[in-house]
Amino acid sequence: MRRTLPLWPWLLLPLLVLLLPAGARSLLIDVLGGITLALLLLPLLGGGLAFLAWRLLSRRLRTCSACGLSSLGGGSACPACGTPYSTEAPPEGLSDARNATINVEAVDVSNAPRNGSPGTTPPPPR
Ligand SMILES: [Zn+2]
Repeated sequence: MRRTLPLWPWLLLPLLVLLLPAGARSLLIDVLGGITLALLLLPLLGGGLAFLAWRLLSRRLRTCSACGLSSLGGGSACPACGTPYSTEAPPEGLSDARNATINVEAVDVSNAPRNGSPGTTPPPPR
């Protein structure tokens, strides 16, 4: 069972604000404006602080190359498997994906040979 609130007190509220003395009225409006501003800005401020904290944490996060465990510890070895953390480049066969170049070959489907499915042509030898 829901009980609806009467509407008339809310309609009388602006009239009561108008009846207040000028100093009290401006003080009330200032306080309400400050509360509204704080309610609007606090989530933005919290989001910015959370973003900065995440950046700081992710910079200190280290991932073990052997077992893949991510840890925040300042030690020189993985706490799970004991593999020492290395600061050298990734091993052969694993290249940095940011520097990788992907060769894409466009194939005209209407002129493709019938026996081979299009798009599966082997890349040219280097
Ligand atoms: Zn490990």
